Order: sequence, then C-alpha cells, then structure tokens
Amino acid sequence: MREHDMLYIDGAWREPEQGDPLELTDPATREVTGRVALGGEADVERAVAAAVRAFDSYSQTSPDERVELLKSILGEFDRRAEDLAQAVTEEMGAPLALARGAHVPTGRGQLASAIEILRKYEFSELRGSTEIRQEPLGVAGLITPWNFPVLQVAGKTASALAAGCTVVLKPAELTPYSAVITAEIMDAAGVPAGVFNLVTGLGSVVGNALSSHPDVGVISFTGSLETAGRVTIAAAPTMKRVHTELGGKSPHILLPDADFGPAVRTVYDWMMAMTGQLCSAPTRTLVPRSRLEEFLSVLVPSLEALKVGDPRSPETEMGPLVSDQQWQKVQHYIQRGLDSGARLVTGGLGKPAGLEAGHFVKPTVFADVTNDMVIAREEIFGPVMSVIAYDTVDEAVAIANDTPFGLAGYVVGSDLHKARAVASRIRAGYIVINDAEFDWTAPWGGYKQSGNGREFGPEGLAAYLETKVLCGG
Ligand code: NAD
Repeated sequence: MREHDMLYIDGAWREPEQGDPLELTDPATREVTGRVALGGEADVERAVAAAVRAFDSYSQTSPDERVELLKSILGEFDRRAEDLAQAVTEEMGAPLALARGAHVPTGRGQLASAIEILRKYEFSELRGSTEIRQEPLGVAGLITPWNFPVLQVAGKTASALAAGCTVVLKPAELTPYSAVITAEIMDAAGVPAGVFNLVTGLGSVVGNALSSHPDVGVISFTGSLETAGRVTIAAAPTMKRVHTELGGKSPHILLPDADFGPAVRTVYDWMMAMTGQLCSAPTRTLVPRSRLEEFLSVLVPSLEALKVGDPRSPETEMGPLVSDQQWQKVQHYIQRGLDSGARLVTGGLGKPAGLEAGHFVKPTVFADVTNDMVIAREEIFGPVMSVIAYDTVDEAVAIANDTPFGLAGYVVGSDLHKARAVASRIRAGYIVINDAEFDWTAPWGGYKQSGNGREFGPEGLAAYLETKVLCGG
C-alpha cells in the first residue's frame, strides 16, 4: 500500500493545506493500491512562489552547470528505474515488461538526449553587432496525462530544466506514483530547493490554478483537446505561452507493395502493446481494396494470439485499460461501430473470458469502415482498429488527411522512395515509415487539433526559451 500524503514544495515534503487524499486502485484487479495527497489552490501558490524565488539563481546557471545537474538526475533515475517500472504497472496497468522496456527507457531517453542537446545548444547569436539571446521563460507549469507517465514527466522536466526554467509539475490523477518517485529522484540528485516542485491533485483545481497563475511563464500541457481548451482559456488573460500536445486519429497507409510484416508490427508496437492508450496510435488502417482480405487473414490471427492479462505476468502482451471510465468509453465506441454497420472481424464488446476483475478489453478490429463513421473520426483510446479500404494512393492520402487531428502517421511500402513521397503528403507531425524505431532526438507534436508547438529534441528545449535582443553598445 502506497501512502503519499505530502507535496514536494521548495525542496521538502510538505503537508497539503487541506483536503482528503485520493484513493487509487489497480486497473488489473480494482483493489486499492494507495492514497495520494490532493493539493489545493494554496499549495499551487506556495509551489509557484518557491519556483519564482528559485528562478532568480537557477536561470543564471551556465549550460555546463545544468548539464551536471541533469547528469546527476539521470544517475538517480537509473538507480530508481525498477521502482518507476513497478509504479507504472501498478498505477496504469502497463505490462511490467513494457514498463521496463518502453515506459522507463523512453523517460531515460529524454533525460539523456536533453543532456546532449544542452551541450551543443547555442543560446546566443551575433547578427552584426546585435546579439540575439535565448533566455529561460520563467516558471514552467507542467500538466501531464496518465498514459505515458514517465516519458511525459521526464521529457517536459528535462527540457524545462535544461532551458533554465524552474518547474511546478501537476501529474494526472491516475498516475501520481511515478511522479512522486520523480520528485524523490530530484531531491536525491541535489536539485536546488524550489527548482522542481510537485503538486498532485485534481486538474480542475491544481491544473486550473497553475494555468491561470500570473507568475507562471509557460504551461506545457499534454492531454485531451477538451482540457487543452480550458487550459488555454484560463491562461489567456496572463498571456503566458501555452504549449499543447493532444490526441489523434492517426492513419496507417499500407501501400499496394506493402509487406504485411512491418504493418502488423506497427499495429502491435504503436497500439496493442499500450492497450490502444497512445495519442499516436495507428487507429485508421488504410489498405488497398484488392489486398484487404489477405491483410485481415494475417492480422486477425496475430491479434487473436495476443496474450491479454495480468500485467505482472512475463507472458502478458496487453494489459487492462487504466480505469472503469476508460473501459466504458471503449465499450461505447465498439457499440457505435456495430451500430454503424462496420464488419467486426475480431474482438467486440465485453471482457475476455477469465479477466472480469480488471478493466480488460478484447483487441478489436472493424473492417469495411468508412471515414465518416464515428469510430474513424473520434479518438477511442482503446485497442479498437478501423480498417478502411482504398482504390488509389491519392484516395488513401485524402482519407488520411480527412481528420481534425494531425499528430502522427504511418506508411508501409517496399519501395522506400514511394513510401517517403506518400509520408510527405500526410499532414501530421511525426510519420513512421516501415515501423522505424522511435527517435528520441526528434521533435514531437501535432498539426491541426493535435496541438501546437513541439516537445523533445532541440525544439522541445526552445519551447521554454524567450528571445531577447541586445542592440548597440
Ligand atoms: P486529460 O485532458 O483528461 O488530462 C490531462 C491532464 O490535465 C491531467 O493532469 C488532468 O488532471 C489535467 N486537467 C484536467 N482538467 C484540467 C483543467 N481544467 N485545467 C488544467 N488541467 C486540467 O487527458 P488524459 O485523459 O489524462 O490523457 C489522455 C489524452 O492525452 C488523450 O487525448 C491523448 O491522446 C492525449 N495525449 C497526447 C499526447 C501527445 O504527445 N500529443 C501524449 C499522451 C496523451
């Protein structure tokens, strides 16, 4: 049982000013796993005030000093890697193998890449006698979702600290355990008091207080479109910078010459392994009409063989959804798919046999989907695939771009030149060709309603910087 009744503010664990803690349950069993402090507006005030005080000196540190600090954080992160993996499994139900093999390494990758980027980053440029400087924006309010908690927290924190900003972190209600460990890592790494602060609590209270706070210079938000709208409105009167990383309905184009190997791996790696809870999940798979049945005959048996179950079992390939609310939402969309006349090829409503205790779902595929159906337009955030047949590549590109989102895209084709040409026509921020590995150093972010700005890579560091000109003298 985890008991976290304190908030990390100004370099120490402090009691929240009010409120009962929030109880958390295991997504695989629905048993209570612990309690976490619910911060309030007064706690945000204290945390922001501490971050403002710390900014005076932290913003004046040299890049070399910040490299040393990030290296110390990375060392502590490595020491706590297994604790982080266990926490992610407990709080969001990710299979332990995935927590160890993806959740924790992606967080580590962000810290390590921030160090390399900071070593080379040019904070000053001379244009004639005029100096263009990049300076830290101020206090960074970081608001994160539950679906990739270690990556989100480590990525945002690493970039903000590399830039010279101080931080107030508000993690998702459902995934505070890994965030608490992150605060312990910061403390053990010798991060100066006030440079990193953690206020767990409700989005409507803590997140809103952070978004509207006049002393916060930048909000980096990852989450849903709906909440991003609230954050943006709350932030508007103070003109702070608001950076948003939101959802998607990403297309996955199988070109006529596609090898189905990388296509099926893309479905597994970017969707099923996370129980579909990935912003960039390839949820709309576009297949040449002449190869549709052939593709389904390869895909469906591989999904039916997926081991769904106890996240702590080493064999498990797909864990539960994070919460009952998420489970209900996914069921709703499966029903909408059935009602719309799409062909259910595998999966469907209900829980897999023997897994009634947790928020488990069946990997589900609908074929004969048209792009106007609700299951092809809205983000489901579960392992539900829509397979759409196309006749020409131009039609496939048009369908791919016929969406309000633009976070990611996937192209599979044997002729790399043609695959890249199609990839360049997709209006989205990150396109994966032939199931390529994720690149830590590349910027991440969306077009259209998938958000604005970029995180990770040098662009992610720049998100926490403001431009100043020194002219003359
Ligand atoms: P959410 O919008 O419900 O919550 C995100 C965060 O916002 C949480 O910390 C929450 O407490 C906080 N919040 C809620 N109300 C708030 C308010 N009024 N003011 C300020 N903060 C508030 O999203 P979620 O359910 O946690 O995450 C899932 C969503 O995140 C999906 O849409 C997914 O696609 C998206 N996502 C996007 C990316 C990306 O990189 N683009 C990555 C992961 C997840």
